[in-house]
Amino acid sequence: MTVRRAASLLLVAALAAGCSAGEPGPARPSTSASPSVAPSPTAAGRPLAGKVVVLDPGHQLGNRHHGAEIAAPVDAGGFEKECNTTGTSTEDGFPESTFTWRVAEQARRSLEGLGARVVLTRGSDSDEKWGPCVDERGRIGNPGRPGPTADLRISIHADGVTDGGASGFHVIRPERIDGWTDDIVRPSRRLAAAVRDALVDARFRPSSYRGVRGIDVRGDLGTLNLSDVPAVMVELGNMRDPGEAAVMESAAGQRRYARALVAGARAFLSAPGPRGR
Ligand code: ZN
Repeated sequence: MTVRRAASLLLVAALAAGCSAGEPGPARPSTSASPSVAPSPTAAGRPLAGKVVVLDPGHQLGNRHHGAEIAAPVDAGGFEKECNTTGTSTEDGFPESTFTWRVAEQARRSLEGLGARVVLTRGSDSDEKWGPCVDERGRIGNPGRPGPTADLRISIHADGVTDGGASGFHVIRPERIDGWTDDIVRPSRRLAAAVRDALVDARFRPSSYRGVRGIDVRGDLGTLNLSDVPAVMVELGNMRDPGEAAVMESAAGQRRYARALVAGARAFLSAPGPRGR
């Protein structure tokens, strides 16, 4: 497990770097209608200052060269599951790993522009690397872990369903599992709705084959079960659907997906109520 340990150390180093977030400021976007009071530059330009977002771009390009490592069982929340998989691809061979990486990078830049601190669960899309495993992806950003504690986690994936006509996105929220997800079920439900609404607003269609109105509930995903902060996994579309594949392969499509995820995160973080919990 030397490689795994090295990967962990790299992640810890990455988490330790760039530690510049200050105290949380007023997080809501200013909507003051008063013409005589200008919004403060901080509130207006950095509405997510003080917020921490974990983005988890699914898989790693090099997983395909490390079958034994990614098949090794890890804790997935009271049961064991394989460390990871290779992910899927479009019919043209455009990998899920690369798609989710590009969307995550776009989203990271936007969120940072809004003042948020963003933690990625992997630092590259590299054919030389593999992992991390789902247990690590699910725990990064949890209270008590190295690095900042997250306000939310979005795990980014795309599906590979070969049934003809299967298309559209779905957002997966954690099922209630006592001792594992009972602490995050309610805010994760709110996060799922916010992300779903943002994807619809961005003209993406809810799944034709999974979930209800674009939202599914699962208890078998380590990434969600091990999270102690509000968490969802998004399957942004079906890479085997030719129309969706074309969107996913295009830079414009990737930007549109990223903008939607940012809008969903921002809506969740800006909503009144208990601090994401
Ligand atoms: Zn995936």
